[in-house]
Amino acid sequence: MADTCAAKTKQGRRCQAPPLAGSRFCAFHADPDRAAALGRKGGLKNRHYVGIDDVNIVPPSTPEDVKALLSQAMADVRSRKLDPKIASALTYIATVLLKAFDATDIHRRLFRLEAEREGREGKDEPRASSVTSDFNGSSDASLPSVE
Ligand SMILES: [Zn+2]
Repeated sequence: MADTCAAKTKQGRRCQAPPLAGSRFCAFHADPDRAAALGRKGGLKNRHYVGIDDVNIVPPSTPEDVKALLSQAMADVRSRKLDPKIASALTYIATVLLKAFDATDIHRRLFRLEAEREGREGKDEPRASSVTSDFNGSSDASLPSVE
């Protein structure tokens, strides 16, 4: 007697579920209609999984990304692709994330200003330009002067 169900999964592999007593099939494969009904029930219960393939969430790394993510979430909620509960969780995370971006940016600027000042207060060494460029390599011309 086989100790796994005789049916095959959608992937073509042998179903690994134990067969029902007196049957070659597991509970799902012995009664496909019931399995389908259970699947529908589960689908209704787990509504936030509906269309999950269509909801692409790229981890945001800039405020611009957060804005795009929230806009997308808004559209997904309206088209019922995304559970509003998940959207409100995203909104909460986005708020914290934006604060973190702010804090990181301020810390980065402060670090740069301090490095600049130490350079000047030191032995009149010419300021190394590498110290004044940030991680993005963009110009710091918009920074207020410390003098
Ligand atoms: Zn089975």
